[in-house]
Amino acid sequence: MARIRFTNVNKKYANGFHAVRNLNLDIEDREFIVLLGPSGCGKSTTLNMIAGLEEVSDGDLIFDEQVVNYVPPHKRDVAMVFQSYALYPHKTVYDNIGFGLKMRNASKEEIDERVQDAAKKLEISHLLDRRPSQLSGGQRQRVALGRAMVRDPSVFLMDEPLSNLDAALRISMRAEIKELHRAMETTFVYVTHDQAEALTLADRIVVMNDGVVQQIGTPDDIYERP
Ligand code: ADP
Ligand code: ADP
Repeated sequence: MARIRFTNVNKKYANGFHAVRNLNLDIEDREFIVLLGPSGCGKSTTLNMIAGLEEVSDGDLIFDEQVVNYVPPHKRDVAMVFQSYALYPHKTVYDNIGFGLKMRNASKEEIDERVQDAAKKLEISHLLDRRPSQLSGGQRQRVALGRAMVRDPSVFLMDEPLSNLDAALRISMRAEIKELHRAMETTFVYVTHDQAEALTLADRIVVMNDGVVQQIGTPDDIYERP
């Protein structure tokens, strides 16, 4: 269960830049929300506030009924997938996927079960002994997804996860991410500047510009089709 609510949230960075203004947004449990807009409009800032990587400057961020403004990232029950994948270059795929569990003192058996299960779902079981440098872009992206999946988070956060892939792979990975959302039954918040990606993935799209939400609606609401 994870309902995320922003009430009158502002984000001002230390240099005074006002990156997000008066954000009011209610994300339902298990919803697939896409934050869409041009570079610099405040999408990552918004995602980072959910992750706890950036504090809100004022207003409230609420998970279910709890105000989480000052709750640190590791206590938020969220997992994040970055555009750059952020894999450990010297660790195997197996250890990259299992690392977060190891840090949480999960047993070897539990780590093994979860890593194998995620690898199977992502069809990378045959790659577990490799290192990131020995993988293609799409395979690296799957490893990054696997690392988030094994934590079994209530909220899955993705920041332009497909933007480093070529066009064909981007389209097939879209379908996989949509399938992952169905299978995991969790809330997804997904950042992209790619309108087609937003249309395919979203239950609802939040259109942002210059730190302000311009529109919130289903793909059909936003792109009225004749
Ligand atoms: P998007 O994800 O939509 O590309 P961001 O949320 O990354 O946008 O950035 C929104 C705005 O805030 C941009 O103008 C960016 O330059 C600025 N910004 C991002 N991080 C910082 C920071 N740490 N300090 C100051 N300004 C920042
Ligand atoms: P460390 O990083 O501490 O040296 P290892 O890389 O040896 O640890 O792996 C930690 C655990 O994960 C060990 O129990 C190991 O058997 C298991 N493991 C590592 N790679 C695989 C794999 N490809 N398939 C199954 N289990 C693995």
